[in-house]
Amino acid sequence: MLKKFLFADLDDTLFQTLEKCAGRAELEPAAYYSDGSICSYTTPAQRAFFAFASEGTTVIPTTARSLDAFRRVDLGFSSYVILNFGGVILLPDGAIDREWQAQMHGQMTTALPGSAGAGRPRRRLGRGLRLPWPRAPGGRRGHAVFRGAQDPDKDHDTLARIEREVVQPWLDAHAGYCVHRNGNNLAILPRSLDKAHAVAHVTERLRREHGEIVTFGMGDSRSDARFMADCDYAIVPRGTQLSRLTLEAL
Ligand SMILES: [Mg+2]
Repeated sequence: MLKKFLFADLDDTLFQTLEKCAGRAELEPAAYYSDGSICSYTTPAQRAFFAFASEGTTVIPTTARSLDAFRRVDLGFSSYVILNFGGVILLPDGAIDREWQAQMHGQMTTALPGSAGAGRPRRRLGRGLRLPWPRAPGGRRGHAVFRGAQDPDKDHDTLARIEREVVQPWLDAHAGYCVHRNGNNLAILPRSLDKAHAVAHVTERLRREHGEIVTFGMGDSRSDARFMADCDYAIVPRGTQLSRLTLEAL
């Protein structure tokens, strides 16, 4: 029997914030903020799916979360981990994949002078919008992986307007970058930073370790589609951005 691996996005795929939960019954905490308060919950269906997937399949988190934010996720994982939109890979023993880090460091060094310019629209983003600078664990301080913004009032229309009026004109002049927006999250990413690249790297390693394997990809966002398309099977949770753009659109 071939070994099975599931590359799974985390937020809005395996769990979500309270306001995104359809019901309130039998929710269980799954992820926490840095102050220890609960950030996200699993539904009974999500826990049933995770138990089903974990039985006989190795689940590999494939997330935009940083290492710090990933450590605040309370689900059990025991293999490779893909973080920071694919910018960082952890080996099964928890150590950073240095080979991947060196590769990404080279690409990010090329991309960074350009992404620093992506900060220029910041003045026009509006008051109170957060622009965090996630850092690659083990990388130099200030080694930004991507720029992101969230509207503090969770007004999705604000981010949609910012994408249209500020980010898109900037992207039109900077072909090496793309925008990822889903709900209250907006990120400007170098095209070299892509979950699909990291999934391809890990898949290659897994094939070296195990020979032929079967891969599954699971995610909720348009930006997950590329890595999911490279897997043998794709799983899309109902009612998500990716479901609306694909299955529900037919
Ligand atoms: Mg997601």
